[in-house]
Amino acid sequence: MAGEIKMADGVKCACEAAIVGLYACAGACNVGQMANKVAVELTKKGKGKMMCTVGIGGGVPGIIKSTEGTDEIIAIDGCALVCAKKTLERAGFTVDKSIVITEFGMKKEGKLDLEETEVNDIIAKVENALVN
Ligand code: SF4
Repeated sequence: MAGEIKMADGVKCACEAAIVGLYACAGACNVGQMANKVAVELTKKGKGKMMCTVGIGGGVPGIIKSTEGTDEIIAIDGCALVCAKKTLERAGFTVDKSIVITEFGMKKEGKLDLEETEVNDIIAKVENALVN
């Protein structure tokens, strides 16, 4: 095809957007749910693509393959136990950035509901951390 630029195997065009995989722990507490919410909102804003973290733990071939195709892997965990990060590492992946929600001033509690102001505040802090 005229105008098509052929690239060597494994070489990506410089104008091609990087695939940023977002892996949230989605834990059963407020900070775990916040981790999930952050991944959802960053995906909606086009800052990355939320992926199925539990599929990594389950060794699901399609999800492992998708993860192998990412350019950057970001783990978003609720607390210092960093389950999403550990799940990725156990599967042999290198986590490029690790986000831990409790490090942004949110206290871990058993409740699952999130306040909108709290969500907006944490998302702003995470976005700031990702660019710095
Ligand atoms: S990182 Fe913390 S909040 Fe997330 S699943 Fe693990 S224990 Fe739960």
